[in-house]
Amino acid sequence: MTPYRTTAAQPLTEPAPEQALRLQNCQVFFDFDNTITAFDVLDGIIEQFSVNHDWIAYEEAWKKGKIGSRQCLEGQLRSIRVERSRLHDYLKTVSIDAAFGRLLALLRRHGVEPVIVSDSFTQIIRYILDHNGISGITVHANTLRMQADRLLPSFPHAGAECGRCGHCKTETLARAEFAGKQAIYIGDGLSDLCPARRSNLVFAKRGCSLQRHLLEADRHCHPFDDLSDIYLFFKEFTDERNTLAPFAPYPVTAV
Ligand SMILES: [Mg+2]
Ligand SMILES: [Zn+2]
Repeated sequence: MTPYRTTAAQPLTEPAPEQALRLQNCQVFFDFDNTITAFDVLDGIIEQFSVNHDWIAYEEAWKKGKIGSRQCLEGQLRSIRVERSRLHDYLKTVSIDAAFGRLLALLRRHGVEPVIVSDSFTQIIRYILDHNGISGITVHANTLRMQADRLLPSFPHAGAECGRCGHCKTETLARAEFAGKQAIYIGDGLSDLCPARRSNLVFAKRGCSLQRHLLEADRHCHPFDDLSDIYLFFKEFTDERNTLAPFAPYPVTAV
């Protein structure tokens, strides 16, 4: 997912000072693994159900930027053997952040319909959300098909320009349906860096690679420990009385 590469996506424009950020003019993007969940579920599946250790070399190569996430995921999933029922049993053990439901409700009260952007797989994410009573949220992610005990990935959001990501989140953020909106990005990992740099307001999980890379690049972000921090942030600045947000988002610059 080559976090340092730019794509053809246009950076979002900085709003004029008199146009204070209104939450209803924002699009909120959530990463899933280790953002909505407390750990990286896809990594957990790979570690739990791989029949060899090939996944480690793929992971290292991806972290060093030698391969993109698509090549990484294709390689890692080749070593997985798991029956559907065992996979489901595993997914049933995954809980989501206790504040996600009320954060979602707050955003929806202010006219925001958030989306999940993930380099994991829609079927896995939907299963976990359903099992935790969350419905109706749009998910942009890779897709998965099961054939006996194999997981076969496909990448409908690979991105025309990028060519490296499984799901090119940066290209998803640049889609026409999100045009004209201020982007708020919530994430933790390397695959979040590129889209975060094109967002107006970024929440980065404290101590994780997204926060580290943004700090190194001298880019502002709000660290969070769990989603209750973000819930309280929005609750404070919206005060639940109106949808005028009395703060200016961090200006987005071309990367
Ligand atoms: Mg993540
Ligand atoms: Zn990409």
